[in-house]
Amino acid sequence: MPQLPAKSRFEFSGGNLCLDFANTVDNRTSGHSKDLLTSYADLLHWGQEAGVVSPKGAERLRRLAEEAPGHAKSALRSAAQTREAIYSVFAAVVGRRGVPGAALGSLNTALQQASEHAQIVQRNRHFSWEWALPEESLESVVWPVARAAAELLTSEDLVLVRECAAEDCGWLFLDKTKNHRRRWCDMKTCGNRDKARRYYERTRKE
Ligand SMILES: [Zn+2]
Repeated sequence: MPQLPAKSRFEFSGGNLCLDFANTVDNRTSGHSKDLLTSYADLLHWGQEAGVVSPKGAERLRRLAEEAPGHAKSALRSAAQTREAIYSVFAAVVGRRGVPGAALGSLNTALQQASEHAQIVQRNRHFSWEWALPEESLESVVWPVARAAAELLTSEDLVLVRECAAEDCGWLFLDKTKNHRRRWCDMKTCGNRDKARRYYERTRKE
């Protein structure tokens, strides 16, 4: 079974799969952003931690990626493209700016590719959506992400999407707090940093 790193470098504070995926870039709006997905193995780790790739599926995909490194590279590139499209679309919605047509187009392309693999299965009397053979396609990590983005964009929860108030963060999250006043992606990191900064400014003035 592929080993997950002991300590995860990913955070899942977005409250939605597609926002968590957008948040795989650290310090996005700082001018020195850091991409957390630098290899196909990273993408697989993320997929496993996000719960969209099973351990068995990850094992199979890892082997496929080793056999076809060029394909794995292009799958990673296309995943990153979808991620940037998701960020652009949601950040524009949050900022009440026009959504860039290219970003929406790119998201639609990912959605169409995912839809080719979507199927309905029946268990007992229930039907549910499932993906057909995700362990055979290097692109499959992004299928549920694209669908989550489409569902969020068309849901009432869209108004609850926020961008972290820290200047250099750029992480997106769904504000499910009671009074809808959550400002930080994570109180422990961005929230604390801001508190420390304000404390510093206050004590310096005094
Ligand atoms: Zn933040």
